[in-house]
Amino acid sequence: MVARRDVLVIDDGQPRNQPSPASHGFFSRDGASPAELRAAGRAQLEPYGVELAEDTVLRAEREAPASSSPPGRERDTGRAG
Ligand SMILES: Cc1cc2nc3c(=O)[nH]c(=O)nc-3n(C[C@H](O)[C@H](O)[C@H](O)COP(=O)(O)OP(=O)(O)OC[C@H]3O[C@@H](n4cnc5c(N)ncnc54)[C@H](O)[C@@H]3O)c2cc1C
Repeated sequence: MVARRDVLVIDDGQPRNQPSPASHGFFSRDGASPAELRAAGRAQLEPYGVELAEDTVLRAEREAPASSSPPGRERDTGRAG
């Protein structure tokens, strides 16, 4: 399966739970370390062709849409299906 959009995840690897030795109350992942959770998440993105980059985002801006929609008429429902 491939996602309908090109997705790039930029992450500089400082998750909030980093100081914790293990996760608790997380269904199916109880006892996993923060690093194990991240590794599982990254592995699960692989089949969807998501690009992963270890970097820091300093600034972001919206590009002009590639479609022929008139300005202000683009819709992004956030749904993948
Ligand atoms: C000590 C502690 C223990 C916890 N234990 C549990 C637990 O046992 N069970 C549980 O369910 N929840 C737990 N939590 C809560 C859980 O960690 C958070 O709910 C979860 O981390 C939120 O995930 P997130 O991806 O939204 O944010 P984060 O985990 O904070 O991830 C955000 C990511 O974005 C990156 N980032 C931020 N800004 C930029 C930038 N400009 N450029 C690039 N990358 C950037 C960060 O480096 C980080 O990797 C715990 C939290 C803490 C603090």
